Amino acid sequence: MIEITRAAEPVRTHDLWIEGWRPARSGATFPTYDPATGQVLAHLARGGAEDVNDAVRAATRAGAAWAKVDPNERARLLWKLGELILHHVDELARTEALDTGKPISNARAIDIPRAADTFFYFSGWATKLHGETIPVRGPFFHYTVREPIGVIGAIIPWNFPILLAARKLAPSLAVGNAVVLKPPEEASLSCLRLAELCAEVGLPPGLVSVVTGYGHEAGAALVAHPGVGKIAFTGGTDTGKIVMASAASGLKRLQLELGGKSPNIVLADADVAQAAKAAVSAAFYNQGELCTSGSRLLVDRAIEAEVLAVLTKGTEAMVMGDPLSAQTQIGPLVSAEHRDRVRGYVALGTEEGATLAVGGQALGPGYFVRPAVFTGVRPEARLAQEEVFGPVLSVIPFDGVDEAVRIANSTAFGLAAGVWTRDLGTAHRMIGALRAGTVWVNTYNRFDAASPYGGVGQSGFGRENGAAVLDEVTTRKTVWIAVPE
Ligand code: NAD
Repeated sequence: MIEITRAAEPVRTHDLWIEGWRPARSGATFPTYDPATGQVLAHLARGGAEDVNDAVRAATRAGAAWAKVDPNERARLLWKLGELILHHVDELARTEALDTGKPISNARAIDIPRAADTFFYFSGWATKLHGETIPVRGPFFHYTVREPIGVIGAIIPWNFPILLAARKLAPSLAVGNAVVLKPPEEASLSCLRLAELCAEVGLPPGLVSVVTGYGHEAGAALVAHPGVGKIAFTGGTDTGKIVMASAASGLKRLQLELGGKSPNIVLADADVAQAAKAAVSAAFYNQGELCTSGSRLLVDRAIEAEVLAVLTKGTEAMVMGDPLSAQTQIGPLVSAEHRDRVRGYVALGTEEGATLAVGGQALGPGYFVRPAVFTGVRPEARLAQEEVFGPVLSVIPFDGVDEAVRIANSTAFGLAAGVWTRDLGTAHRMIGALRAGTVWVNTYNRFDAASPYGGVGQSGFGRENGAAVLDEVTTRKTVWIAVPE
Protein backbone atom coordinates (compact mmCIF):
# COMPACT_ATOMS: atom_id res chain seq x y z
CA MET A 1 0.00 0.00 0.00
CA ILE A 2 1.38 3.40 -0.98
CA GLU A 3 0.76 6.25 1.43
CA ILE A 4 -1.10 9.13 -0.22
CA THR A 5 -2.31 12.26 1.52
CA ARG A 6 -4.62 14.67 -0.23
CA ALA A 7 -6.14 17.85 1.16
CA ALA A 8 -9.90 17.81 0.56
CA GLU A 9 -10.46 20.06 -2.45
CA PRO A 10 -13.75 20.62 -4.28
CA VAL A 11 -14.04 18.66 -7.55
CA ARG A 12 -14.34 21.32 -10.25
CA THR A 13 -15.94 21.11 -13.67
CA HIS A 14 -13.82 22.61 -16.46
CA ASP A 15 -15.30 24.07 -19.64
CA LEU A 16 -13.83 24.05 -23.13
CA TRP A 17 -11.61 26.93 -24.16
CA ILE A 18 -12.90 28.46 -27.40
CA GLU A 19 -12.41 32.26 -27.35
CA GLY A 20 -12.71 31.85 -23.58
CA TRP A 21 -14.50 29.39 -21.29
CA ARG A 22 -17.74 27.77 -22.39
CA PRO A 23 -19.38 24.40 -21.87
CA ALA A 24 -19.72 21.76 -24.58
CA ARG A 25 -22.77 22.41 -26.76
CA SER A 26 -24.19 19.09 -25.61
CA GLY A 27 -23.67 20.14 -21.98
CA ALA A 28 -22.05 16.74 -21.36
CA THR A 29 -19.03 16.19 -19.13
CA PHE A 30 -16.82 13.26 -18.18
CA PRO A 31 -14.59 12.57 -15.16
CA THR A 32 -10.81 12.59 -15.01
CA TYR A 33 -9.09 10.71 -12.17
CA ASP A 34 -6.19 11.20 -9.79
CA PRO A 35 -4.09 8.12 -10.67
CA ALA A 36 -2.55 8.02 -7.18
CA THR A 37 -5.91 7.59 -5.42
CA GLY A 38 -8.32 6.47 -8.12
CA GLN A 39 -10.64 9.30 -7.01
CA VAL A 40 -12.30 11.77 -9.39
CA LEU A 41 -9.98 14.76 -9.79
CA ALA A 42 -12.19 16.94 -12.01
CA HIS A 43 -14.94 16.85 -14.60
CA LEU A 44 -14.18 17.95 -18.14
CA ALA A 45 -16.47 19.21 -20.89
CA ARG A 46 -17.14 16.46 -23.41
CA GLY A 47 -16.47 18.30 -26.66
CA GLY A 48 -17.96 16.98 -29.90
CA ALA A 49 -18.22 17.80 -33.58
CA GLU A 50 -20.21 21.02 -33.03
CA ASP A 51 -17.63 22.34 -30.58
CA VAL A 52 -14.80 21.46 -32.95
CA ASN A 53 -16.70 23.32 -35.64
CA ASP A 54 -16.89 26.42 -33.43
CA ALA A 55 -13.19 26.17 -32.58
CA VAL A 56 -12.17 25.81 -36.25
CA ARG A 57 -14.35 28.77 -37.22
CA ALA A 58 -12.74 30.91 -34.50
CA ALA A 59 -9.27 29.68 -35.47
CA THR A 60 -9.82 30.49 -39.16
CA ARG A 61 -10.78 34.05 -38.27
CA ALA A 62 -8.03 34.60 -35.74
CA GLY A 63 -5.39 32.82 -37.85
CA ALA A 64 -6.00 35.06 -40.89
CA ALA A 65 -5.23 38.15 -38.79
CA TRP A 66 -2.36 36.49 -36.90
CA ALA A 67 -0.55 35.61 -40.14
CA LYS A 68 -0.34 39.35 -40.87
CA VAL A 69 0.98 40.30 -37.43
CA ASP A 70 4.54 41.68 -37.47
CA PRO A 71 6.83 38.66 -36.89
CA ASN A 72 8.64 40.59 -34.16
CA GLU A 73 5.36 40.87 -32.30
CA ARG A 74 4.64 37.17 -32.73
CA ALA A 75 8.12 36.44 -31.39
CA ARG A 76 7.61 38.76 -28.42
CA LEU A 77 4.31 37.14 -27.42
CA LEU A 78 5.68 33.59 -27.67
CA TRP A 79 8.72 34.55 -25.58
CA LYS A 80 6.39 36.11 -23.02
CA LEU A 81 4.36 32.89 -22.94
CA GLY A 82 7.54 30.94 -22.16
CA GLU A 83 8.24 33.32 -19.29
CA LEU A 84 4.71 33.05 -17.95
CA ILE A 85 4.96 29.25 -17.98
CA LEU A 86 8.17 29.47 -15.94
CA HIS A 87 6.50 31.94 -13.59
CA HIS A 88 3.85 29.28 -12.89
CA VAL A 89 6.25 26.33 -12.74
CA ASP A 90 5.16 25.15 -9.27
CA GLU A 91 1.46 25.32 -10.02
CA LEU A 92 1.82 23.64 -13.44
CA ALA A 93 4.10 20.91 -12.08
CA ARG A 94 1.56 20.12 -9.37
CA THR A 95 -1.27 19.98 -11.91
CA GLU A 96 0.73 17.67 -14.17
CA ALA A 97 1.70 15.38 -11.26
CA LEU A 98 -1.88 15.17 -9.96
CA ASP A 99 -3.39 14.58 -13.37
CA THR A 100 -0.88 12.14 -14.93
CA GLY A 101 0.69 10.54 -11.83
CA LYS A 102 4.23 11.59 -12.81
CA PRO A 103 6.63 12.55 -9.99
CA ILE A 104 6.38 16.26 -9.27
CA SER A 105 10.17 16.64 -9.19
CA ASN A 106 10.33 15.45 -12.81
CA ALA A 107 7.49 17.73 -13.87
CA ARG A 108 9.22 20.65 -12.17
CA ALA A 109 12.66 19.90 -13.63
CA ILE A 110 11.67 18.74 -17.11
CA ASP A 111 8.06 19.04 -18.33
CA ILE A 112 7.40 22.64 -17.41
CA PRO A 113 10.83 24.22 -18.11
CA ARG A 114 11.08 22.31 -21.41
CA ALA A 115 7.63 23.52 -22.42
CA ALA A 116 8.85 27.07 -21.74
CA ASP A 117 12.08 26.39 -23.69
CA THR A 118 10.02 25.30 -26.67
CA PHE A 119 8.29 28.69 -26.78
CA PHE A 120 11.64 30.50 -26.31
CA TYR A 121 13.25 28.52 -29.13
CA PHE A 122 10.41 28.93 -31.64
CA SER A 123 9.87 32.60 -30.85
CA GLY A 124 13.25 33.04 -32.57
CA TRP A 125 12.02 31.43 -35.77
CA ALA A 126 9.10 33.86 -36.19
CA THR A 127 11.51 36.43 -37.67
CA LYS A 128 13.63 33.98 -39.67
CA LEU A 129 11.20 32.40 -42.07
CA HIS A 130 13.24 32.92 -45.21
CA GLY A 131 12.33 31.88 -48.72
CA GLU A 132 14.85 31.25 -51.48
CA THR A 133 15.86 33.00 -54.68
CA ILE A 134 16.46 30.26 -57.26
CA PRO A 135 18.05 30.84 -60.67
CA VAL A 136 15.94 29.27 -63.45
CA ARG A 137 16.21 29.14 -67.21
CA GLY A 138 14.72 32.15 -69.02
CA PRO A 139 14.01 35.79 -68.27
CA PHE A 140 12.39 35.27 -64.91
CA PHE A 141 12.88 36.35 -61.36
CA HIS A 142 12.06 33.18 -59.43
CA TYR A 143 11.69 32.81 -55.69
CA THR A 144 9.81 31.00 -52.93
CA VAL A 145 8.01 32.30 -49.88
CA ARG A 146 6.87 30.30 -46.89
CA GLU A 147 3.28 30.69 -45.83
CA PRO A 148 1.36 29.35 -42.84
CA ILE A 149 -1.03 26.47 -43.48
CA GLY A 150 -3.97 28.10 -41.67
CA VAL A 151 -5.58 25.98 -38.98
CA ILE A 152 -3.58 23.13 -37.49
CA GLY A 153 -5.31 20.41 -35.48
CA ALA A 154 -3.10 19.10 -32.67
CA ILE A 155 -3.87 15.82 -30.89
CA ILE A 156 -1.69 14.63 -28.03
CA PRO A 157 -1.44 11.77 -25.47
CA TRP A 158 -1.34 11.92 -21.68
CA ASN A 159 2.28 11.18 -20.86
CA PHE A 160 3.65 14.74 -21.27
CA PRO A 161 0.57 16.89 -21.87
CA ILE A 162 1.89 20.44 -21.53
CA LEU A 163 5.25 19.66 -23.12
CA LEU A 164 3.71 17.93 -26.13
CA ALA A 165 1.16 20.75 -26.44
CA ALA A 166 4.05 23.25 -26.48
CA ARG A 167 5.79 21.24 -29.22
CA LYS A 168 2.69 21.52 -31.38
CA LEU A 169 1.74 25.09 -30.54
CA ALA A 170 5.07 26.92 -30.56
CA PRO A 171 6.24 26.26 -34.15
CA SER A 172 2.70 26.50 -35.54
CA LEU A 173 2.05 29.88 -33.93
CA ALA A 174 5.53 31.25 -34.66
CA VAL A 175 4.96 31.01 -38.41
CA GLY A 176 1.40 32.38 -38.34
CA ASN A 177 -0.96 29.42 -37.94
CA ALA A 178 -3.89 29.01 -35.52
CA VAL A 179 -4.22 25.79 -33.47
CA VAL A 180 -7.13 23.71 -32.21
CA LEU A 181 -5.78 21.37 -29.54
CA LYS A 182 -7.47 18.12 -28.50
CA PRO A 183 -5.78 17.21 -25.23
CA PRO A 184 -5.73 13.66 -23.81
CA GLU A 185 -8.96 12.71 -22.03
CA GLU A 186 -6.94 11.25 -19.13
CA ALA A 187 -5.02 14.47 -18.42
CA SER A 188 -6.30 17.72 -19.91
CA LEU A 189 -5.87 20.16 -17.02
CA SER A 190 -2.43 21.59 -17.87
CA CYS A 191 -3.51 22.17 -21.49
CA LEU A 192 -6.57 24.11 -20.32
CA ARG A 193 -4.36 26.23 -18.08
CA LEU A 194 -1.98 26.78 -21.00
CA ALA A 195 -4.89 28.19 -23.01
CA GLU A 196 -5.55 30.68 -20.22
CA LEU A 197 -1.89 31.68 -20.20
CA CYS A 198 -2.01 32.20 -23.98
CA ALA A 199 -4.82 34.68 -23.44
CA GLU A 200 -2.99 36.34 -20.55
CA VAL A 201 0.06 37.17 -22.70
CA GLY A 202 -2.20 38.68 -25.36
CA LEU A 203 -2.58 36.00 -28.02
CA PRO A 204 -5.82 36.92 -29.82
CA PRO A 205 -9.06 35.08 -28.94
CA GLY A 206 -9.68 32.04 -31.14
CA LEU A 207 -6.01 31.61 -32.08
CA VAL A 208 -5.60 28.73 -29.63
CA SER A 209 -8.59 26.59 -28.65
CA VAL A 210 -8.62 23.57 -26.37
CA VAL A 211 -11.46 21.13 -27.03
CA THR A 212 -11.45 18.47 -24.35
CA GLY A 213 -13.21 15.19 -25.02
CA TYR A 214 -12.79 11.65 -26.25
CA GLY A 215 -10.62 10.68 -29.20
CA HIS A 216 -13.39 9.04 -31.18
CA GLU A 217 -15.58 12.13 -30.73
CA ALA A 218 -13.66 15.43 -30.49
CA GLY A 219 -10.45 13.94 -31.94
CA ALA A 220 -12.14 12.28 -34.89
CA ALA A 221 -14.18 15.44 -35.62
CA LEU A 222 -11.00 17.52 -35.68
CA VAL A 223 -9.27 15.14 -38.11
CA ALA A 224 -12.32 15.08 -40.40
CA HIS A 225 -12.96 18.85 -40.37
CA PRO A 226 -12.49 20.38 -43.84
CA GLY A 227 -11.34 23.69 -42.33
CA VAL A 228 -8.26 22.06 -40.76
CA GLY A 229 -5.25 22.11 -43.09
CA LYS A 230 -3.01 19.78 -41.17
CA ILE A 231 -3.11 17.32 -38.29
CA ALA A 232 -0.15 17.04 -35.94
CA PHE A 233 -0.76 13.82 -34.03
CA THR A 234 1.14 12.17 -31.20
CA GLY A 235 -0.22 8.90 -29.84
CA GLY A 236 -0.41 5.17 -30.40
CA THR A 237 0.37 3.51 -33.74
CA ASP A 238 -3.10 2.00 -34.11
CA THR A 239 -4.74 5.37 -33.50
CA GLY A 240 -2.28 6.95 -35.94
CA LYS A 241 -3.55 4.61 -38.66
CA ILE A 242 -7.17 5.60 -37.97
CA VAL A 243 -6.17 9.27 -38.10
CA MET A 244 -4.30 8.74 -41.36
CA ALA A 245 -7.24 6.97 -43.00
CA SER A 246 -9.60 9.77 -42.01
CA ALA A 247 -7.17 12.52 -43.05
CA ALA A 248 -6.77 10.83 -46.45
CA SER A 249 -10.33 11.62 -47.52
CA GLY A 250 -9.62 15.34 -47.19
CA LEU A 251 -5.98 14.95 -48.38
CA LYS A 252 -4.97 16.62 -45.16
CA ARG A 253 -1.33 17.13 -44.31
CA LEU A 254 -0.21 14.89 -41.51
CA GLN A 255 2.56 14.47 -38.99
CA LEU A 256 2.51 11.27 -36.93
CA GLU A 257 4.61 10.75 -33.79
CA LEU A 258 3.71 7.20 -32.79
CA GLY A 259 4.83 4.35 -30.59
CA GLY A 260 8.19 2.69 -30.09
CA LYS A 261 10.02 -0.33 -28.75
CA SER A 262 13.42 1.24 -28.58
CA PRO A 263 16.57 -0.86 -28.16
CA ASN A 264 19.17 0.29 -25.66
CA ILE A 265 22.30 -1.65 -26.64
CA VAL A 266 25.21 -2.31 -24.29
CA LEU A 267 28.26 -3.61 -26.17
CA ALA A 268 30.98 -5.64 -24.49
CA ASP A 269 33.47 -2.75 -24.48
CA ALA A 270 31.07 -0.27 -22.81
CA ASP A 271 31.53 1.40 -19.42
CA VAL A 272 29.28 -1.26 -17.92
CA ALA A 273 28.49 0.43 -14.62
CA GLN A 274 27.50 3.68 -16.34
CA ALA A 275 25.46 1.90 -19.02
CA ALA A 276 23.59 -0.31 -16.54
CA LYS A 277 22.79 2.64 -14.28
CA ALA A 278 21.49 4.63 -17.25
CA ALA A 279 19.44 1.64 -18.41
CA VAL A 280 17.30 1.97 -15.27
CA SER A 281 16.18 5.51 -16.05
CA ALA A 282 16.04 4.79 -19.81
CA ALA A 283 13.42 2.12 -19.08
CA PHE A 284 11.58 3.56 -16.09
CA TYR A 285 11.66 7.35 -16.38
CA ASN A 286 8.06 8.58 -16.22
CA GLN A 287 7.00 5.01 -15.18
CA GLY A 288 8.15 3.85 -18.62
CA GLU A 289 5.25 5.86 -20.06
CA LEU A 290 7.58 7.40 -22.59
CA CYS A 291 7.48 6.77 -26.33
CA THR A 292 11.29 6.47 -26.51
CA SER A 293 11.60 4.39 -23.35
CA GLY A 294 14.55 1.97 -23.65
CA SER A 295 12.16 -0.92 -23.18
CA ARG A 296 14.47 -3.51 -24.80
CA LEU A 297 17.86 -3.71 -23.14
CA LEU A 298 20.17 -5.59 -25.47
CA VAL A 299 23.24 -6.80 -23.59
CA ASP A 300 26.30 -8.64 -24.86
CA ARG A 301 26.33 -12.03 -23.16
CA ALA A 302 29.94 -11.43 -22.05
CA ILE A 303 28.84 -8.68 -19.63
CA GLU A 304 25.25 -9.74 -18.97
CA ALA A 305 25.73 -10.83 -15.34
CA GLU A 306 27.54 -7.61 -14.47
CA VAL A 307 24.82 -5.47 -16.11
CA LEU A 308 21.98 -7.41 -14.46
CA ALA A 309 23.48 -6.97 -10.99
CA VAL A 310 23.49 -3.16 -11.31
CA LEU A 311 20.18 -3.10 -13.16
CA THR A 312 18.14 -5.12 -10.67
CA LYS A 313 19.62 -3.33 -7.68
CA GLY A 314 18.97 0.08 -9.27
CA THR A 315 15.40 -0.89 -10.21
CA GLU A 316 14.54 -2.13 -6.74
CA ALA A 317 15.97 1.05 -5.22
CA MET A 318 13.63 3.33 -7.19
CA VAL A 319 11.34 5.15 -4.80
CA MET A 320 7.70 4.54 -5.71
CA GLY A 321 5.23 6.82 -3.99
CA ASP A 322 2.92 9.81 -4.02
CA PRO A 323 3.61 11.83 -7.17
CA LEU A 324 3.32 14.97 -5.04
CA SER A 325 6.21 13.89 -2.80
CA ALA A 326 9.61 15.34 -3.75
CA GLN A 327 11.34 11.99 -3.08
CA THR A 328 9.17 9.98 -5.49
CA GLN A 329 10.85 8.57 -8.60
CA ILE A 330 8.02 6.30 -9.77
CA GLY A 331 4.38 7.36 -9.60
CA PRO A 332 1.21 5.47 -10.51
CA LEU A 333 0.26 4.62 -14.09
CA VAL A 334 -2.21 6.98 -15.70
CA SER A 335 -5.41 4.92 -15.46
CA ALA A 336 -6.90 1.66 -14.20
CA GLU A 337 -7.20 0.39 -17.80
CA HIS A 338 -3.56 1.13 -18.47
CA ARG A 339 -2.49 -0.52 -15.20
CA ASP A 340 -4.41 -3.65 -16.21
CA ARG A 341 -2.85 -3.61 -19.66
CA VAL A 342 0.64 -3.35 -18.18
CA ARG A 343 -0.12 -6.15 -15.71
CA GLY A 344 -1.27 -8.22 -18.68
CA TYR A 345 2.19 -7.85 -20.22
CA VAL A 346 3.81 -8.90 -16.92
CA ALA A 347 1.73 -12.10 -17.03
CA LEU A 348 2.55 -12.56 -20.72
CA GLY A 349 6.30 -12.32 -20.06
CA THR A 350 6.14 -15.28 -17.70
CA GLU A 351 3.86 -17.24 -20.06
CA GLU A 352 6.36 -16.67 -22.87
CA GLY A 353 9.12 -18.23 -20.77
CA ALA A 354 11.07 -15.15 -19.69
CA THR A 355 12.24 -14.77 -16.08
CA LEU A 356 10.76 -12.00 -13.94
CA ALA A 357 13.87 -10.85 -12.07
CA VAL A 358 12.22 -8.05 -10.07
CA GLY A 359 8.97 -6.09 -9.78
CA GLY A 360 5.64 -6.32 -11.56
CA GLN A 361 3.40 -6.16 -8.48
CA ALA A 362 0.37 -3.85 -8.51
CA LEU A 363 -0.19 -1.71 -5.43
CA GLY A 364 -2.98 0.56 -4.26
CA PRO A 365 -4.51 2.94 -3.79
CA GLY A 366 -4.55 4.12 -7.36
CA TYR A 367 -2.73 2.46 -10.23
CA PHE A 368 0.81 1.68 -9.06
CA VAL A 369 2.93 -1.09 -10.63
CA ARG A 370 6.46 -1.81 -9.42
CA PRO A 371 9.05 -1.54 -12.22
CA ALA A 372 9.56 -5.00 -13.68
CA VAL A 373 12.70 -6.48 -15.26
CA PHE A 374 12.38 -9.61 -17.40
CA THR A 375 15.56 -11.47 -18.32
CA GLY A 376 16.14 -14.03 -21.03
CA VAL A 377 13.49 -12.49 -23.29
CA ARG A 378 13.46 -13.97 -26.80
CA PRO A 379 13.75 -11.22 -29.44
CA GLU A 380 10.68 -12.50 -31.28
CA ALA A 381 8.50 -12.81 -28.13
CA ARG A 382 5.49 -10.51 -27.99
CA LEU A 383 6.98 -8.87 -24.90
CA ALA A 384 9.97 -7.87 -27.01
CA GLN A 385 7.93 -6.80 -30.03
CA GLU A 386 4.92 -4.89 -28.65
CA GLU A 387 4.92 -1.50 -26.97
CA VAL A 388 3.98 -1.82 -23.27
CA PHE A 389 4.23 1.90 -22.55
CA GLY A 390 4.80 1.13 -18.88
CA PRO A 391 7.49 0.01 -16.41
CA VAL A 392 8.32 -3.37 -17.98
CA LEU A 393 11.86 -3.92 -19.27
CA SER A 394 12.88 -6.83 -21.51
CA VAL A 395 16.54 -7.83 -21.25
CA ILE A 396 17.72 -9.61 -24.40
CA PRO A 397 21.19 -11.14 -24.57
CA PHE A 398 23.20 -11.15 -27.83
CA ASP A 399 26.57 -12.34 -29.15
CA GLY A 400 28.50 -9.63 -30.97
CA VAL A 401 27.67 -6.40 -32.77
CA ASP A 402 26.03 -7.91 -35.86
CA GLU A 403 23.50 -9.85 -33.82
CA ALA A 404 22.79 -6.74 -31.74
CA VAL A 405 21.91 -4.76 -34.87
CA ARG A 406 19.78 -7.59 -36.22
CA ILE A 407 17.76 -7.82 -32.99
CA ALA A 408 17.57 -4.03 -32.61
CA ASN A 409 16.05 -3.69 -36.10
CA SER A 410 13.67 -6.63 -35.70
CA THR A 411 10.54 -4.75 -34.56
CA ALA A 412 8.10 -2.80 -36.71
CA PHE A 413 8.98 0.40 -34.82
CA GLY A 414 11.86 2.81 -35.41
CA LEU A 415 11.69 5.66 -32.93
CA ALA A 416 15.00 5.70 -31.06
CA ALA A 417 18.00 3.59 -30.09
CA GLY A 418 20.86 3.79 -27.59
CA VAL A 419 24.38 2.44 -28.02
CA TRP A 420 26.97 2.07 -25.26
CA THR A 421 30.53 1.54 -26.46
CA ARG A 422 34.01 3.00 -25.97
CA ASP A 423 34.91 2.40 -29.62
CA LEU A 424 34.24 5.39 -31.88
CA GLY A 425 34.36 3.28 -35.05
CA THR A 426 31.79 0.82 -33.68
CA ALA A 427 29.58 3.71 -32.60
CA HIS A 428 29.58 5.15 -36.12
CA ARG A 429 28.88 1.76 -37.71
CA MET A 430 25.94 1.25 -35.34
CA ILE A 431 24.57 4.74 -36.03
CA GLY A 432 24.49 3.86 -39.72
CA ALA A 433 22.97 0.41 -39.22
CA LEU A 434 20.18 1.18 -36.73
CA ARG A 435 16.70 1.85 -38.08
CA ALA A 436 15.62 4.70 -35.81
CA GLY A 437 14.72 8.38 -35.92
CA THR A 438 17.20 9.16 -33.13
CA VAL A 439 20.38 7.38 -31.97
CA TRP A 440 21.96 8.18 -28.61
CA VAL A 441 25.57 7.14 -27.98
CA ASN A 442 26.70 6.71 -24.37
CA THR A 443 23.62 8.57 -23.22
CA TYR A 444 19.84 8.08 -23.49
CA ASN A 445 16.60 10.10 -23.66
CA ARG A 446 18.14 13.46 -24.57
CA PHE A 447 15.82 16.02 -26.13
CA ASP A 448 16.05 19.67 -27.04
CA ALA A 449 13.68 22.09 -28.74
CA ALA A 450 16.45 22.59 -31.32
CA SER A 451 16.85 18.87 -32.05
CA PRO A 452 14.67 17.29 -34.80
CA TYR A 453 12.63 14.44 -33.41
CA GLY A 454 10.47 11.73 -34.99
CA GLY A 455 10.38 8.14 -36.12
CA VAL A 456 10.57 5.77 -39.05
CA GLY A 457 8.48 2.69 -39.83
CA GLN A 458 5.51 2.17 -37.50
CA SER A 459 6.81 4.99 -35.27
CA GLY A 460 5.42 7.48 -37.77
CA PHE A 461 6.75 10.25 -39.98
CA GLY A 462 7.41 13.95 -39.94
CA ARG A 463 9.74 15.76 -37.60
CA GLU A 464 9.00 17.80 -34.52
CA ASN A 465 11.32 20.42 -33.02
CA GLY A 466 14.31 22.13 -34.59
CA ALA A 467 14.27 23.87 -37.95
CA ALA A 468 12.93 20.61 -39.41
CA VAL A 469 9.41 21.25 -38.09
CA LEU A 470 9.16 24.50 -40.07
CA ASP A 471 8.58 22.39 -43.20
CA GLU A 472 5.70 20.73 -41.35
CA VAL A 473 3.90 23.93 -40.41
CA THR A 474 4.32 25.97 -43.60
CA THR A 475 3.78 25.63 -47.31
CA ARG A 476 6.20 26.95 -49.89
CA LYS A 477 4.78 29.22 -52.56
CA THR A 478 6.81 29.43 -55.77
CA VAL A 479 6.75 32.74 -57.65
CA TRP A 480 7.77 33.35 -61.30
CA ILE A 481 7.98 36.95 -62.45
CA ALA A 482 8.62 37.62 -66.10
CA VAL A 483 11.41 40.15 -66.50
CA PRO A 484 11.16 41.93 -69.89
CA GLU A 485 14.53 41.78 -71.71
P1 NAD B 1 -3.87 7.16 -28.06
O1 NAD B 1 -3.44 6.95 -29.46
O2 NAD B 1 -4.91 6.30 -27.48
O3 NAD B 1 -4.40 8.66 -27.85
C1 NAD B 1 -3.66 9.78 -28.25
C2 NAD B 1 -4.61 10.92 -28.57
O4 NAD B 1 -5.39 10.56 -29.71
C3 NAD B 1 -5.61 11.22 -27.44
O5 NAD B 1 -5.79 12.61 -27.34
C4 NAD B 1 -6.88 10.55 -27.94
O6 NAD B 1 -8.05 11.13 -27.43
C5 NAD B 1 -6.77 10.77 -29.43
N1 NAD B 1 -7.56 9.84 -30.24
C6 NAD B 1 -7.95 8.58 -29.94
N2 NAD B 1 -8.70 8.07 -30.94
C7 NAD B 1 -8.78 9.02 -31.90
C8 NAD B 1 -9.43 9.09 -33.17
N3 NAD B 1 -10.14 8.07 -33.66
N4 NAD B 1 -9.28 10.22 -33.89
C9 NAD B 1 -8.56 11.25 -33.41
N5 NAD B 1 -7.95 11.26 -32.22
C10 NAD B 1 -8.05 10.14 -31.46
O7 NAD B 1 -2.52 7.10 -27.23
P2 NAD B 1 -2.36 7.19 -25.65
O8 NAD B 1 -2.70 5.88 -25.05
O9 NAD B 1 -3.00 8.41 -25.13
O10 NAD B 1 -0.78 7.45 -25.59
C11 NAD B 1 0.15 6.44 -25.67
C12 NAD B 1 0.75 6.32 -27.05
O11 NAD B 1 1.32 7.56 -27.49
C13 NAD B 1 1.89 5.34 -27.06
O12 NAD B 1 1.78 4.48 -28.16
C14 NAD B 1 3.12 6.20 -27.21
O13 NAD B 1 4.23 5.59 -27.78
C15 NAD B 1 2.63 7.33 -28.03
N6 NAD B 1 3.49 8.49 -27.89
C16 NAD B 1 4.32 8.82 -28.93
C17 NAD B 1 5.19 9.89 -28.81
C18 NAD B 1 6.11 10.27 -29.94
O14 NAD B 1 6.57 11.39 -29.95
N7 NAD B 1 6.40 9.39 -30.87
C19 NAD B 1 5.19 10.66 -27.64
C20 NAD B 1 4.35 10.29 -26.59
C21 NAD B 1 3.50 9.20 -26.75
